[in-house]
Amino acid sequence: MTVSKDLVIPGDFVGYAEEYLSGYGTYDNEGKLYSLITGIVNQNDDEREISIKPIIETPPEIKKDDVVYGRVADLRNNFLVVNLSKVSSSSDREIVRADRGILHISNIKRGYVNQVSDEFNHNDIIKAKVVDKDTVTLSTEDENLGVIIAKCQNCKTRMDAVNGKLHCPQCKRTETKKVSSDYGIGAI
Ligand code: ZN
Repeated sequence: MTVSKDLVIPGDFVGYAEEYLSGYGTYDNEGKLYSLITGIVNQNDDEREISIKPIIETPPEIKKDDVVYGRVADLRNNFLVVNLSKVSSSSDREIVRADRGILHISNIKRGYVNQVSDEFNHNDIIKAKVVDKDTVTLSTEDENLGVIIAKCQNCKTRMDAVNGKLHCPQCKRTETKKVSSDYGIGAI
């Protein structure tokens, strides 16, 4: 039997991992299940699974292969949450409603990534491509995708891209990240 419950938005607590499996539209963080999307909680007591039935479609503007810009809002073990602010396309449409994309560790770059924090920091501005419009799953694998604006973790100075790495002109630190070849270009 499936019980449809409350309306939730991304980040809302929906159940405990010891009681339910993490179904569509949810994620498990330290034993608690949260919603990744806006929708209605479906609690399936036969399958012991909680999933979210989306009720608000992603903005119709977003399509597969669209290039989007956003700010890294949250870093988890295997993915990061990006607050999207702009869609880049032929008409350069703005996203009217704030929305979130998910960048999984496997979509960050070609090759092995140990942890997402090796490639991105909180509040980095990134350029990414939509690989699944329904779940707003993003990729930064292509050369022109990745961080386009970053501040130094030490002194908060805006960093420069030098040979694919980020260099702080103030404290001379270097950070290795998934830097876009368009770093500093097309900033929001
Ligand atoms: Zn610095």
